[in-house]
Amino acid sequence: MAATPTPDPRARLPSVDRLMDAPELASLVAEWGRRTVIGEARRLLAALREQAPDGSEPPGPDALAKALAQRLQATPGRGPRPVWNLTGTVIHTNLGRAPLPASAIAAMGAAAGSSDVEFDLESGTRGERDHHVERLICDLTGAEAATIVNNNAAAVLLVLNTFAQGKEVPVSRGELVEIGGSFRIPDIMRRAGSTLVEVGTTNRTHRADFEAAMTDATGMLFKVHPSNYAITGFHEEVTIATLAEIAHAHRVPLAWDLGSGSLVDLSRFGLAREPMPADALEAGADLVTFSGDKLLGGPQAGLIIGKRAAIDAVRRNPLKRALRVDKITLAALAAVLRLYGDDARLLQELPVLRLLSRKQDDIRAQAERLAPSIARMLGEDWEVTTVTLASQIGSGALPVDNLASAGLAISSRRDRGRGRAVEALQQRLRRLPKPVIGRIAHDQLLLDLRCLEDEATWLEDIERLSAP
Ligand SMILES: *Cc1c(COP(=O)(O)O)cnc(C)c1O
Repeated sequence: MAATPTPDPRARLPSVDRLMDAPELASLVAEWGRRTVIGEARRLLAALREQAPDGSEPPGPDALAKALAQRLQATPGRGPRPVWNLTGTVIHTNLGRAPLPASAIAAMGAAAGSSDVEFDLESGTRGERDHHVERLICDLTGAEAATIVNNNAAAVLLVLNTFAQGKEVPVSRGELVEIGGSFRIPDIMRRAGSTLVEVGTTNRTHRADFEAAMTDATGMLFKVHPSNYAITGFHEEVTIATLAEIAHAHRVPLAWDLGSGSLVDLSRFGLAREPMPADALEAGADLVTFSGDKLLGGPQAGLIIGKRAAIDAVRRNPLKRALRVDKITLAALAAVLRLYGDDARLLQELPVLRLLSRKQDDIRAQAERLAPSIARMLGEDWEVTTVTLASQIGSGALPVDNLASAGLAISSRRDRGRGRAVEALQQRLRRLPKPVIGRIAHDQLLLDLRCLEDEATWLEDIERLSAP
């Protein structure tokens, strides 16, 4: 006699409505809202129904609630989550770049309601958005004027569009760079309505190359910081002072996209000296653009500084309206710029500079302090050692310069499958309520402790790894 086929257990999965009525889901609904939970429940049940039957019983309400909680945690919709950046890259674009100082965080909260963002309190009439930070920036850089847009890519787009729409812009072939995948100088020039005129060669560009490229159709000269790559060896570039001479002889402006644009001399931290916005202006650039959230250590923004007439022209461009920043950004930027008024305070209070200037010995001492606790928590399967590491600034600043650092190297004690074990551990760390982001090299998980300041909270957070 033929056996009757056992009914497919997937048919016994509850409907979305029935699942939503389960008391196990009440706390999820309270936390996430009913609609969000329904959406995720629908996707979870659909995924379970699609799984091939393996004869096992379908999950009950308790297991479904757990799976749902996990999916909700991992789901977009809760906004950016705080993470522990132990990658060794201090200004990590994927991890939110510069961590903001407490004063900026407070200023953002204070400005969040109604504020005088574009209102002149003295006269009671419409005010200028840029005025909240313009004087501060000018005092710090020696610029005559400054304007702020959404990010440095926007700053570059706006400057090119203002002075070279329908015109030619000669740029050295050594500076036609791509920054972080989606920002390529030739593409942004095309979108700005400018015609790129390639000048010189990849490694060497001379004054005569630029002079030969100047025509009646030239709208401006444009220099780009090569950012995340470095040219070494047989190399020559035209200085900003020479470019200024050529530009001004042809009555066109010269702009320099500095990228990171540090307002402090990095040689103080034993790093190479990056060109600073003040130097660029002094050497003859009419306009300089740089990011707010790279070495400046502030919120995402693009700063355009320079000659008053040039900045006025930029402000009159209707695109400025499309690229402007909000009150929250202005509040944070002003708070960060104010820290620059006092060197000692700056190093203590601005996280980017505080982290970049941490000494290797201190970081190593921290690693030695933490290693035993981490080893105990991970158990016998893992070896935890203190190692010397090399941190990076990140975001294109001094790509070949490393900062001597230290941290923990975690490796599996197993004989086989150590690579997979380490990847699994890395995933567990990423699934913590406040994820821990490290990096893997040679089957070891490396946690660079340069950016770990709140050690006690981190230890508490990471304790959860050992929880069932
Ligand atoms: C980072 C960078 C940009 C883009 O700046 P965002 O603030 O990320 O938009 C443009 N140019 C250079 C040289 C850079 O380093």
